[in-house]
Amino acid sequence: MTVQAEGPTRLEAVGSVAVRTFEARRTGTNPETQAPQAMAQYEDELQDSQLYDPDAEYEPDPEYAATLAPDAARQRRERVGPTGRPLPYFPIPGPLTEHGPAKIVAMCNQKGGVGKTTSTINLGAALAEYGRRVLLVDFDPQGALSVGLGVNPMELDITVYNLLMERGLVADDVLLKTAVPGMDLLPSNIDLSAAEVQLVSEVARESTLQRALKPLMSDYDYIVIDCQPSLGLLTVNALTAAHTVIVPLECEFFALRGVALLTETIEKVRERLNPELELDGILATMYDSRTVHSREVLARVVEAFDDNVFHTVIGRTVRFPETTVAGEPITTYASNSVGAAAYRQLAREVLARCHAE
Ligand code: ADP
Ligand code: MG
Repeated sequence: MTVQAEGPTRLEAVGSVAVRTFEARRTGTNPETQAPQAMAQYEDELQDSQLYDPDAEYEPDPEYAATLAPDAARQRRERVGPTGRPLPYFPIPGPLTEHGPAKIVAMCNQKGGVGKTTSTINLGAALAEYGRRVLLVDFDPQGALSVGLGVNPMELDITVYNLLMERGLVADDVLLKTAVPGMDLLPSNIDLSAAEVQLVSEVARESTLQRALKPLMSDYDYIVIDCQPSLGLLTVNALTAAHTVIVPLECEFFALRGVALLTETIEKVRERLNPELELDGILATMYDSRTVHSREVLARVVEAFDDNVFHTVIGRTVRFPETTVAGEPITTYASNSVGAAAYRQLAREVLARCHAE
């Protein structure tokens, strides 16, 4: 109850401080009386960019600081992020002199349309921008990840399906280079749907993907698997191969529905198949800071998952659907957009978490 109430309240407090600053600078009038319009205007201007940019200057003018309530000043100093918690600083990752062994991340949620594919492409591209060698695995027969990277899945003869089912085939035969330097793709298409059935009769069927990825581990720093929207055998394969799971959650009313089943599945895989598996984090996606609803859902997610929720929150913007049409990540399609900044911030947070372990 307390946490739930705290999220939006803190956010509003941060917002109102900024509104006063903004409004006073803009008009030189008494901002208190104009707060409601200013709030809307401010949020339009600020959107999420300041919250996402950890290098931004957060201290208000000293003159203005004196007029702020002590608590609001503290919140501003501690940079309360969109999740209602103080936003830590995630350093810009330094260059690597050598690569591998890869950390494998499963992007997983049995619900469709929550941002798995978008997060796989853009987290991967942001990690590659920071000099990491990245392999993306399309593990959904829909092939949306492949499409999102400009590949037509229907034209492919060899996909991740062949890698799983045919002995003697090596990953190099299937790998495609993407337009992003340092980022490769194991593509898939509808063939993969047959694997779900065919794998059932295989020996050690849950670890088929893990075995297929093994020879690639030393070539990459990160392997990100884009899971299909189900908890079937393909997803269990992804979880068995992975070191960590990222669960994208859309900030809407039913976001938490089904998450219990997902965490149960993760738990089972950890117990029976992959003791190292960790829930790296819940990633809030399609967040709209202007709606109370979005903020409430996020507060509830933080209440339920606490520190397992990434500080980085992905805002809702039409730039993402546009990137799918363009067949490239947002980091190259709209490099200066808030969406690109959000995924760079996520990459920094993922790397910081990795080093903290
Ligand atoms: P999933 O892989 O979980 O099914 P997608 O990543 O394909 O989800 O996203 C579903 C749809 O939502 C796509 O059309 C995508 O472009 C769009 N989308 C994803 N993230 C965002 C966002 N942050 N803001 C707006 N639209 C988004
Ligand atoms: Mg998808």
